Amino acid sequence: MAVFNYIPIGEQGLKEIYQWLDDWVARNKGLAQKKVIGKSPDRWDILAIFITNEALPDDDKQIAVITLGRHGQELGTRVVGPEIIRYLCSSDAQEIRETQVVIVVPVVNPEGFVSNEFRSSMTSLTKTERLVLGGLFREFPPDMMIDFHSLGEAAGSKYDRGDMEVIIPANTTKWAVDEQIHQYVAREMQKAAESQGWPYEIHTLEDLATYYFGDTKIGNMPWTSVKEKVYLLHMQDFYDNYHIPEEDQYTNYTCGPAYLKWHTLVFGLETNHYALSRAGDIALSGLVPCSALLKTGSTRLPWEKDKGYPVNNLHGDFRISIRPIGRNACERRASRIRIWNERTNFNLPQRETVDQETTIGRVRYFGRDLPMEFALCLRMRQNNIKSITTQGKEVPFEIFKDNCSTFVYIPIMMEKAGTIELMIKHPYP
Ligand SMILES: [Zn+2]
Repeated sequence: MAVFNYIPIGEQGLKEIYQWLDDWVARNKGLAQKKVIGKSPDRWDILAIFITNEALPDDDKQIAVITLGRHGQELGTRVVGPEIIRYLCSSDAQEIRETQVVIVVPVVNPEGFVSNEFRSSMTSLTKTERLVLGGLFREFPPDMMIDFHSLGEAAGSKYDRGDMEVIIPANTTKWAVDEQIHQYVAREMQKAAESQGWPYEIHTLEDLATYYFGDTKIGNMPWTSVKEKVYLLHMQDFYDNYHIPEEDQYTNYTCGPAYLKWHTLVFGLETNHYALSRAGDIALSGLVPCSALLKTGSTRLPWEKDKGYPVNNLHGDFRISIRPIGRNACERRASRIRIWNERTNFNLPQRETVDQETTIGRVRYFGRDLPMEFALCLRMRQNNIKSITTQGKEVPFEIFKDNCSTFVYIPIMMEKAGTIELMIKHPYP
């Protein structure tokens, strides 16, 4: 049984959900808190439910944000939010609560909910969203963000309407193998959903573009995928305060700017309130990929040094990358955001095997945010690393492993702009 086995409708429906949230928070002290983060234009409260183990310090936790219901008529999202909140207070989510602060905004757009109308924008964030989410993110810049939507009878892609459910690893780029990383996580979400009987597709930004820019006639797909992608990414501006300045710019999902501003792991999700005729099924099919995603944030993925969302590869690739530094999740987040916003002031880090026992790593920083602190990370086929030196002096390093290789993680502090070269000594392979 789901929390809601019917779709709450109208003002009465919104009140039912808000009442359930109040009751739930009251029954889960120490785990769940409610905050009013803003008001809709017609003066409804916009609520956020914070779920975490409040006995443990937030500095050690990832921040995950889940938004739902930005498009008023997308009925399915209404039952998914409470389902996720209930799950987060269950025993299965204990590790999530210990390692993350999860913030669920169950109804981003109460005005649209009450009127059962879109009352939003497909091409930009609304003024209310900029204000409300911008305020929330100033205090809680997310490590992961997922935005739930719901497709109805006439909705879907231009070539596939009325039935599909979709995981959308869009709003990312090829920078620092981010597309590969988002696909890796999307596939985990898809596998979890399939194991529970919910067939989801994974759609990239290029696929997504055809939802909006394609034509319904057979054989009328738009442009080339590359052209679409360049266009779509140019439509996002990460310089201002959670804001996309011109009204005709594109972001269907609330998480769009978060990737560009904070290197957040970002997903959209489309559940379906037409093909799934029972509200309880919509709730459960929405929950499963989300819980799989949340578990990722409490796992160490093979190329990551620490447990948490895979957001720490900031430049380069899996073989050589620039990583944040920090002793806990909070420090690493701050370091990540700082380096990410300076990423175009680093060259692509280089590596070279100069002989069988020596690897050179090289990185240049030519920005002004000094001293710049970061880590250079190399994936090595050797098991043992003998020493790492720069200009003849030994430098400290850490190692971590995946199932077939060793990662060396070398913290670096650059007092002034320039190039640093590191010599890594290892046994003959
Ligand atoms: Zn939508």
